[in-house]
Amino acid sequence: MSKQLVEFQEYLKTCRKIVALVGAGLSVSSGLPTFRGSQGLWKNFNMIDLATPDAFYIDPGLVWQFYSWRRYNALQAKPNKGHLALSALSNLATRKDSNLEYITITQNVDGLSSRSGHAKENLYEIHGSLFNLNCTSFMCNYVDRNNLKHPLTKALEGTEYEYDRKNRKRSLEEDDSSHQVDYSISPQFRPVKNIPESELPQCPVCKDGSLLRPGVVWFGESLPLNVMNSVDNFIESNNSVDLILVIGTSGTVYPANSYVDRVKVKGGKVAIFNTDIEEDILQGIVKDTWGFRGDAAELLPIALKPVIGEV
Ligand SMILES: [Zn+2]
Repeated sequence: MSKQLVEFQEYLKTCRKIVALVGAGLSVSSGLPTFRGSQGLWKNFNMIDLATPDAFYIDPGLVWQFYSWRRYNALQAKPNKGHLALSALSNLATRKDSNLEYITITQNVDGLSSRSGHAKENLYEIHGSLFNLNCTSFMCNYVDRNNLKHPLTKALEGTEYEYDRKNRKRSLEEDDSSHQVDYSISPQFRPVKNIPESELPQCPVCKDGSLLRPGVVWFGESLPLNVMNSVDNFIESNNSVDLILVIGTSGTVYPANSYVDRVKVKGGKVAIFNTDIEEDILQGIVKDTWGFRGDAAELLPIALKPVIGEV
């Protein structure tokens, strides 16, 4: 065991208040590529262009097909041991006899933390979830939470594949070695369907049939105020945070860096679990900061074992 790990675990055992900040790297070993790290295209559309309020306003059918595909991929994926380790920590904190305070702040919308059995009350999905559906009407605050149904409507059925399944699989997500793929047949491209609004998910409360939209934070939208406030309250309350775990994200980009700074300023320590970590952190010369390089799904169960036991 490395000196850093021993030191980290000794400190971990003394912690009374912990925050985990989770990014896309945690879900990679569940088979979900990072949004920007993937090819960046879905049916020849730039994914980033589809994740905006404007795109939904102009063509909700197109955006819903993109999100139907993302929901499908997330549903195919299973929570990994990293998710389970954090879930164990969350459930430890909610026990009546526990003196541990804990929250997970996740930037992931894949719902895997939620599906790993994480305690609901200390999970904050700051970018929303693919499995929440929000009403688009300003007058209505209907939210359908944790809706795992696929497809959501008849019209969205079978729209997730870019190429005809029988002929060719293109993306990693669709790669399933149990299927024989015949590459001699040229792929049959499946274009985006034209779906009228009446065949997309509708709000059950609004009388005028308002559309539901994916409950995720799109580019150009602000993070959900109530969630951010709850996180702020946890971090700023009288008991200061002893430890922040930065997982599958670099910790140097907003909002990760701001949480890290706020914890450090009050005397808390930082542990980063990521495939990409700055060299000086790895060498242990950055004050109050540990860095563990590798797959967070493998590292977390080992690092947290003294507190959560075997995952
Ligand atoms: Zn509504």
